[in-house]
Amino acid sequence: MDTRLLPIDPEKFSEEDLKQAANLIGQGEIIAFPTETVYGLGASVYSASGIKKIFQAKGRPMDNPLIVHISSMEMLNNIVDEISPNVKQLCEAFWPGPLTILFPKSEKILPEVTAHLPTMAVRMPNNPIALKLIDLAGVPIAAPSANISGRPSPTTAEHVFHDFNGKIPLILDGGPCFVGVESTVIDVQRVPPLILRPGGLNFENLRKYLPNIQIYDKIIPNEELEARPSTPGLKYRHYSPTASLILIEYRLLGIEQPILKRLDELIAQKSRFGYIHTQANFTIPQQYRDQLGDFFIDLTYPDSEMEVFQDKVQLHSHIAQHLFSTLRKLDDQKVEYILIGGISEDFEGLAVMNRLRKAASEIL
Ligand code: AMP
Ligand code: MG
Repeated sequence: MDTRLLPIDPEKFSEEDLKQAANLIGQGEIIAFPTETVYGLGASVYSASGIKKIFQAKGRPMDNPLIVHISSMEMLNNIVDEISPNVKQLCEAFWPGPLTILFPKSEKILPEVTAHLPTMAVRMPNNPIALKLIDLAGVPIAAPSANISGRPSPTTAEHVFHDFNGKIPLILDGGPCFVGVESTVIDVQRVPPLILRPGGLNFENLRKYLPNIQIYDKIIPNEELEARPSTPGLKYRHYSPTASLILIEYRLLGIEQPILKRLDELIAQKSRFGYIHTQANFTIPQQYRDQLGDFFIDLTYPDSEMEVFQDKVQLHSHIAQHLFSTLRKLDDQKVEYILIGGISEDFEGLAVMNRLRKAASEIL
């Protein structure tokens, strides 16, 4: 199969540009499209063959449910019986945006979409191409991230092409995703409500609307989490580059020494490795930068500016936005190891650390 990469300018495109994509969805095909979080691999929630193709193409375990993407509240009303005032308020506050909400599963939706769970996860993406595509298709689109299962999620059309060239008919190229990590998944059926997966909408913002919201892996001990994950995606290894990822956990005082020590060891070992710098409060000495060259990637500077981020919210958003693409970039350079320092778990830091811990093969 030929895979077509179709550039679409998110700011000015015509319906015509997306008709072909919407038709493919209607015919039970799968296509990749941009969202604000990561690229998605979508099929109609009513097409058994389309849904099957998603799992097959990704190599995704059948017990890992998909998120249902909608383009309007009208579409939501078609698939849920009742929306409580609380949930309605959340939708109004955060949609379109990186928030996925669990609802009781509609009879209309194929059971494979939710991996036979009694709940379905729904979100309205904040990307004009995605919204128009869903609108033209006229059906909710089930879409996981458009990467081979286990790999870092795709934040550009090129990442999708890398993983799916020859396996899907079409990739809509709407440029890089500006959030860069997947949506926050919340369970509002429970009391108190729970963040099942931290993501692009941060805890601090959610808490303004759900003051008692808890974070799943902070309240459930690890062993129990492994044995009985309430959100199935949690039990699989995820987001991993081909290189072995070494994560140095964040320490309030003194992450600098452990990072320099591990850098020294990797250099002494003569390893081919990359280092991703995420600590705005210290600079890596020039000798390391010289030695590493292209394999040194600094995420502490805003794009095209000379000064490190002063604001933690902005720094953490920037790291989230570039995390997956940086892992993929270093992979392309065929490094054996990637070293990265952890960040504090506030703002996008919570989602970043969640992804890094799942991707890591060594945590110090
Ligand atoms: P992905 O689209 O690849 O980011 O994966 C979607 C993730 O959303 C899954 O791995 C689950 O963690 C979560 N999810 C989707 N549907 C449900 C559901 N019905 N109940 C709990 N978690 C869900
Ligand atoms: Mg995924």
